[in-house]
Amino acid sequence: MRRLQSRFWSWPVLTAIAWIVLLQSGHAAAPITDPAAFLYQAESLDTKDHPQFVRMLQQIHHEAIRLTPEEQWHLHYLDAWETMFEGDYAKSEAQLHDVIDHSGDATLATKASALLLTNLAANRRYEEAFALANRATTGLPGVKDPKARFMLLMHLSQMLDLAGQTDLAIQYARMMESAIPSGETLCRPLYFQAAALYNGKRLTSSSPELQRAIDTCVAAQEPIFANAMWLTLGSLYLDENQPGKAMALLNQIAPSIRINHYYPHMLSAQVQRAQAYAKLGNDTEARKAALAAISMGNPGDISIWLKEAYEVLYQIEKKQGNAAAALAYHEHYVIQDKGDLNDISARTEAYEVAQQHMLAQKLETESLSKQNNILRLQQALNTKAVETSRLYIALLLVVLVSIVFWVFRLKRSQLRFKELSCLDGLTGIFNHQHFISEADRTLRLLEKKHSAACLVFIDLDHFKQVNDTHGHAVGDAVLRRTVALCQKQLRPADLFGRLGGEEFCLLLVECSREQGMVIADRVRMAIEALPIEADGCVVSFSASLGLASTDTSGYGLQRLCREADAALYRAKRGGRNRVVADTEDGSLAEA
Ligand code: GH3
Ligand code: MG
Ligand code: MG
Repeated sequence: MRRLQSRFWSWPVLTAIAWIVLLQSGHAAAPITDPAAFLYQAESLDTKDHPQFVRMLQQIHHEAIRLTPEEQWHLHYLDAWETMFEGDYAKSEAQLHDVIDHSGDATLATKASALLLTNLAANRRYEEAFALANRATTGLPGVKDPKARFMLLMHLSQMLDLAGQTDLAIQYARMMESAIPSGETLCRPLYFQAAALYNGKRLTSSSPELQRAIDTCVAAQEPIFANAMWLTLGSLYLDENQPGKAMALLNQIAPSIRINHYYPHMLSAQVQRAQAYAKLGNDTEARKAALAAISMGNPGDISIWLKEAYEVLYQIEKKQGNAAAALAYHEHYVIQDKGDLNDISARTEAYEVAQQHMLAQKLETESLSKQNNILRLQQALNTKAVETSRLYIALLLVVLVSIVFWVFRLKRSQLRFKELSCLDGLTGIFNHQHFISEADRTLRLLEKKHSAACLVFIDLDHFKQVNDTHGHAVGDAVLRRTVALCQKQLRPADLFGRLGGEEFCLLLVECSREQGMVIADRVRMAIEALPIEADGCVVSFSASLGLASTDTSGYGLQRLCREADAALYRAKRGGRNRVVADTEDGSLAEA
């Protein structure tokens, strides 16, 4: 059976599968009105009417200058197809690569890749072919164009069959069955299924798959595929030792094979004829047929058919006792057999290498994707950590701002309380306690600077009467007015406080007794001069002032207070509304 397998897939037949030539002609050249449609029409005829295809290519080349870039690439692809058809694999390979890499057209690139598969396999560059097949398989789900998909599936099925992967080859051929583009028939899908079954040694001459493929290809008027299947049936008859049936079949298909003039089929039919004659015992005809087959090949050709032709000749010569001739044919047979075996192992090896490579890449991709996942997780963790620290910072800031705010408010309240605790509630000037402490502090500073100051006690005269006559509220108004009047006479550095009731005290800084007397008298006059109005009547009031000076009393506050109080007492006694000061000699002076 290996013999049959090889026969089916040796490389000239491989090209036959890709290049189905139906030599028809007769289409008249029509002027090109729609170049895009013209190119598609030409493509549809590539194997069905190859001469017309060639004529159409020539025609459109004359008008290539007016094609759009897309149409230029389509033409370039068809040129590659034709170059490959003509057997110039190196040139067509370059053209196909150009289309794949630069056309920017996914459908054209897919078709070009499919062709490239067969191109590489035909050149026995199996490793590259299988590597490309793997890439094409990966890209298969993305191929949406029906024709490109059909083509790719067909070439992939063929490649897998070539690698001995029967089940996969059948699977791809079945996929073709479910995606037949317009203009195509079931012939090719069934053909590739039958071919894979045959190579997988799963066909007999009576297999329904084979018969169905033959019937379908005959009905679809695909003589090359039909003949390939007939020849498969012929091989099976020979394998099953039914040379009569094989001979009858060969006679039946001989006209079609002659008309199509397809070299691999002509050679194959000739060898089968020799084998059938040999099995029927007609050595003369068998030898003739085998020699005819050998003469069809070129010197140096290696093929399964040549091997079988030599085998027939060897067996005949051996049977007839021609030892020398038998030996010579046997040598040829061995050369052909070795070549065939090498080709098979090269294909299998290349497939394995490509699979291993793909597996390695897959593992590498998986490990890379795992690494990526870890990196992604790490990044996510880092982002989370950053977010968390940002949250903490924000929280901290909020807490800090709150604390600062509360501290500020507390401080403000404290200051306010402190301020309030220092001031007199009714008049807003220093209260007794604060005045005393401030005055004491100021006197000490003045003492250091040897600067003079005056302490003045002020007591409103007959204030009780104001209260009694006009009420407490008017009394309060008088107190406030007194403060306002005094303040107008003071300098910013002077201290002013309410000692209690209707008594006030001034500390006039950097001020001699004389200057103090002047200021004190101005205060007295201001109070006297400005009565207030209450309940429609004018309320006049006055004040008595007692002055003590550091010039005579020193900087001790107690003493100064005592002296000022004594002076005030004297002012009261002296008739009120006046200023009395302690003089330098201890006597009292009056302003
Ligand atoms: P003198 O001329 O001898 O000083 O007579 P006076 O009436 O001013 O003195 P006295 O000490 O007899 O009266 C002080 C009055 O001041 C008594 C009190 O009712 C009044 N007084 C004390 N504090 C206030 C206050 O805050 N508001 C008002 N309206 N009256 C006050
Ligand atoms: Mg008093
Ligand atoms: Mg008084």
